[in-house]
This record gives sequence, structure tokens and C-alpha cells, in this order.
Amino acid sequence: MLVVQKYGGTSVADADRIRHVAGRVIKRIKAGDQVVVVVSAMGNTTDELIDLALSVSPDPDPRELDMLLSTGEQMSVALVAMALRALGQEAVGLTANQAGIYTRAQYGSGRIARVEADRVRAELAAGRVPIIAGFQGTTDDQEIVTLGRGASDTTAVALAIALGAERCENCKDVEGVYTADPRIVPTARRLKDITYEEMLELASQGSQVMHNRAVELASVYNLPVLVTSSMVDAPGTLIHGESELEERNRVRGIAHDSDVAKITVRRVPDRPGIAANIFEPLANAGISVDTIVQNASEGHLTDLSFTLSRGDLRKAESLMPGICESVGSPEYTADANLGKVSIVGVGIQTAHGYAARMFRTLFDAGINIELISTSEIRLTCIIAADRVNDAVRALHDAFELERAE
Ligand code: ADP
Ligand code: ASP
Ligand code: MG
Repeated sequence: MLVVQKYGGTSVADADRIRHVAGRVIKRIKAGDQVVVVVSAMGNTTDELIDLALSVSPDPDPRELDMLLSTGEQMSVALVAMALRALGQEAVGLTANQAGIYTRAQYGSGRIARVEADRVRAELAAGRVPIIAGFQGTTDDQEIVTLGRGASDTTAVALAIALGAERCENCKDVEGVYTADPRIVPTARRLKDITYEEMLELASQGSQVMHNRAVELASVYNLPVLVTSSMVDAPGTLIHGESELEERNRVRGIAHDSDVAKITVRRVPDRPGIAANIFEPLANAGISVDTIVQNASEGHLTDLSFTLSRGDLRKAESLMPGICESVGSPEYTADANLGKVSIVGVGIQTAHGYAARMFRTLFDAGINIELISTSEIRLTCIIAADRVNDAVRALHDAFELERAE
């Protein structure tokens, strides 16, 4: 079968691991499979490149930043291809431009528009393993664009779809998708499988184990994705469209995110058009807003709160005085030190008792809930950032997630 295997930064962090990855790819080919490989930048390279950019400019030019960041993945493809060749397997490292991964020009947050995979197919047909740079794309005018942090997962899924691969395998330093981040909950349990919609909620609420756009794309094309270990042979977790009947009405996993900020616009006159006047300037500045809560009004005045990622707070605060003036609010307040914790599972909103149990658990742990948001398969509480880990552990216990399936 044809598979696309993606190896993340930790899995190619040094020479030993790169040689290990090469060995795994060869084993797979010997077993009769065709393999296309997507790699991320080694270890913390992307963070280090960002720091380097900030050391020469406080506000690096987005085009040149993408030019710089894309070199991280380019290093990895060359090294993995060399390691394969050293073991006697022909291989070829390809940038996104060479592999035909086209995006629109939105530096730092490109979206894949199409994949023209002829070159990749030709390399495969010639017996060379294509090793493709994740996280980058090319525009029609040959500009280099990156796809957003963690987006090598998305490159791999897009390639698998374009090539008609049987599945995409996401090889990591963990053995699959767990009921919670195993770094925080040592007793977290690996899930045998999970539906696209549950995985999408977990990923969107902060589980960095899969990039959310990768899950979204796989779901649209019904591509099975196996999250598995790059280190050991492990059965992994299959992300797919089916859920077992027995798995309904229960919490499947807990996601957390310690990078949340909140802004409250105080005493806003309660009249039509206010929300548009608050959120349009933020959207125009490229700031994405997450949870929005408008309180009941008292004497035609209301407080409106919303959350955003901490990295966007400074930019948002620079717009707030103008926004307050335009809606007639006397002031706003900002809190930079929040986080969120979510329970996710198909059916939990229609079943009784999940919300109550979540709130009771947080209360018993002495954790104050700042805001609540829900979807059909998720409940999220915004809490203090320094209590996020405690909340994840308490909820993992309360919903008995360590129990065998
Ligand atoms: P990659 O190297 O492939 O990019 P990441 O570092 O992005 O991998 O994702 C793997 C990490 O995700 C793990 O080390 C783990 O700490 C974290 N993680 C968070 N939530 C989960 C979860 N529910 N299951 C497994 N891993 C998780
Ligand atoms: N190297 C990129 C990042 O660190 C992309 C990825 O790892 O998926 O965000
Ligand atoms: Mg990742």
C-alpha cells in the first residue's frame, strides 16, 4: 500500500533519531509498501529561528520571516534523504515548491490551495523515496509561505489525499492520542481510535498532538490518519469516521491550553450593532477571538467579554481605546493569565450530568470558572492559567478516564 508518513520535530531532533527514522522507512519498504515522507524542522529549530529573527528586528517582515522559517524543514529533508542513501535506499529531498504544494500568499498562515504531485509520483516510480518539507507552501509566483505552527501534519494529510494514499501515519514521540496529555496525566490511556469530530474538537481546544486543519482536511476526504510512535512499534490511534455505539455518551478526552487572554469591555450601552463595532476592527487586524460572553444588561448597560490567544493581546489592547470610544464604553479590562480545559466526547451534551460533574470537580479543586463555552460534543471552562494542569488531572480522575476500555 501507499502511505504518507510524517515525522515531527522531536522524531528528527538529532542524527541518531534521523538514522532511526531512515531505518524505519526502509523496513516499511522491505515489507512491500510505498512510502512518501513528510518531515518537520529538527527539535526546537522553528522556535530558535523565530528568536533569531527577533534579535535583528522587533517586528520581522512577514515575507522574510517565512523565508527564514522554511529553512528548518529544508534542513530536515536533506538530512533524512542523506541518511536513507547512506543505508542504500535512494531518496530525494523536496521543498514544497519542488513537491507542488501550492498556497495563497498569506505569510505565516498559508492555506494549501492544491497539490500538483506529478514530481512526487515520478520520484516514487523511479524508486526514490520522496522526503518532503512540511509546514511550507509555494505561491503561483514562487513565494515561500509557511502554514502556521504545527502544520506539517496538514502538509502530510494534503499530500496523502493528492496521492490517493491509503492512509497518513503521523509518527511522534507519543504512541497515539491519549485521554489527556501524558506529560500532565501520567495515567492517561491511549485511545484505540477516535472520530474526526472528536479529534477536531480536541485539536482546536489545544491538544497539540494533531494540527486542527489536518484533522479537518482528513475528515472532508475521509482519509484515515494513524497517530503512532516514531520510536517503537505501536498500534497507535486511528482517527476515522466511525465510532462504536458503546463509545457514545462518554468523555473521550480532555484538552487543555494554557495560553488564553481575556478582554472585558465594560458598561457598553445595550443597542444593536455594538458587537459588530467591537469585533470588526479585531478581525481586520487578523486577531481571532474565541469564546464571547455578553452579560444580561442592567439599566441598558452590559459587560461583554471575549477570549483570544495571549500572543494577540498586545495587538488587541492597542485597538481597545478606539473600540471603547466607538461603542460608548468607559473602559475595558484585560487578563493575560488564563487557560482553558475542555472535555470532549460525542453525545456528552445530550446526556445528563456531564456539565454538573465538570463544574463540581473544578469547584472541589478550588478552581474558579471565569467563562464557559460549549459545542455539541464539548464543554470548555476558562480558568486561571496556573490551575490548568490541576484541572486536567482532577477531571481525568472524575470522569474515570484511566479505566480500561
Ligand atoms: P510532533 O513532533 O509530531 O510535531 P507534537 O510535539 O506536536 O508532535 O505533539 C506530540 C505531543 O503532544 C506529545 O509529546 C504530548 O505531550 C502532546 N499531547 C497533548 N495532548 C495529547 C494527547 N491527548 N495525546 C497525546 N499527546 C498529547
Ligand atoms: N516546524 C513547524 C513548527 O514548529 C511545523 C511543525 O512542526 O509541524 O511549528
Ligand atoms: Mg506538532
